[in-house]
Amino acid sequence: MTAVFAITASRIFDGQSFYLDAALVVDGSKVGAIMPQSKLPAGMKTLPVGNNLIAPGFIDLQVNGGGGVLFNNQPDVTGIETICAAHASFGTTALMVTLITDVPDIRDIAVEAGCQAATNAVPGFLGLHLEGPHLSVARKGTHDPALIRPMTEDDLLYLERKAGMFGLPMMTVAPESVTPAQVRRLVAAGYRISLGHTDSKCAAIADYVDAGATMVTHLFNAMSQLGNREPGLVGAGLSSPALHCGLIADGFHVDPVTMRVALAAKQGPAHIFLVTDAMSTIGTDSSGFDLNGRAVYRRDGRLTLADGTLAGADIDMLSCVRFVHERLGQPLEEALRMASLYPAQAIAAPCKGSLTVGNDADFIVLGEELDLLSTWIGGACVHEANAERRKARA
Ligand SMILES: [Zn+2]
Repeated sequence: MTAVFAITASRIFDGQSFYLDAALVVDGSKVGAIMPQSKLPAGMKTLPVGNNLIAPGFIDLQVNGGGGVLFNNQPDVTGIETICAAHASFGTTALMVTLITDVPDIRDIAVEAGCQAATNAVPGFLGLHLEGPHLSVARKGTHDPALIRPMTEDDLLYLERKAGMFGLPMMTVAPESVTPAQVRRLVAAGYRISLGHTDSKCAAIADYVDAGATMVTHLFNAMSQLGNREPGLVGAGLSSPALHCGLIADGFHVDPVTMRVALAAKQGPAHIFLVTDAMSTIGTDSSGFDLNGRAVYRRDGRLTLADGTLAGADIDMLSCVRFVHERLGQPLEEALRMASLYPAQAIAAPCKGSLTVGNDADFIVLGEELDLLSTWIGGACVHEANAERRKARA
């Protein structure tokens, strides 16, 4: 018998609309219903959260680390658990643990860790995002250029063999290192393919979309920019109805004016969604960390290599949502969709991203200042702000 209970709030956002004085009925790990509080069956166990907002949990498709763990440095299931827990305390209920370009041995160890996390059903673990090594050296960003390389047949056979074993499989690839035929095989195996770290011309992107690529990795960053005669991947991403675009909304990776222009330009049905590109610093007070043997420094909301190159972001998803709502002026419901519904659509995860009946009961409770009160994954509370405060006082 599965437990059925209701959570009542002054506002519930299901991913599309707001419901006032409503109840979210949780049936086991799934959403049972959203209904007026007055219609709740007598005797149903009810948890009132008062004058607050229930919204779908955040989905982050690009998370390199958190809670002091960088996945590249600790590619094991404990590392994955730490990363997922750190981000749950900022409202993220599902994330793709992201491995950036590394040596083949680390990739293989990381994939085994992903398989173990999927087997153990680690709360919040959605799958692995392999960002590289099949990128463009010219657009390396923070990736070690010595480790960037074209995809070989051996790589492809390995990836096909492991598909479906480590949760949802996702990859960022560049046309400079991967062919449309290779993308077609990866998509057939179940991979969600995102294009990034590239100088590819706009016209060439069409072949990759035809092959099944559906996303752009951190739009504007580590790619050629929108030109008058060569739109590049930015132009392809903003104009294609099939390309969902990840965006790092920390105010450093992309200028707020550019973000507004992009949001106005993107017409759908594929949307711009938020990613944190978070590193190990999230949920800690550390001053930096090590990346492929290079020091990364944390200062004033930025993470940089010694030469000033941005090395991932020092932002959590709730802060991204606030930035989009408060600084870019997007309506709250749209900011919430950019962190939940749109990333779920980008990876075709139909049970995630909205609180519709039968979906996973992944949700958050937000206070009036958009402060996080609690995080729920599969109908279970995994983080409660007051509990943390109580612990801190004790
Ligand atoms: Zn990147």
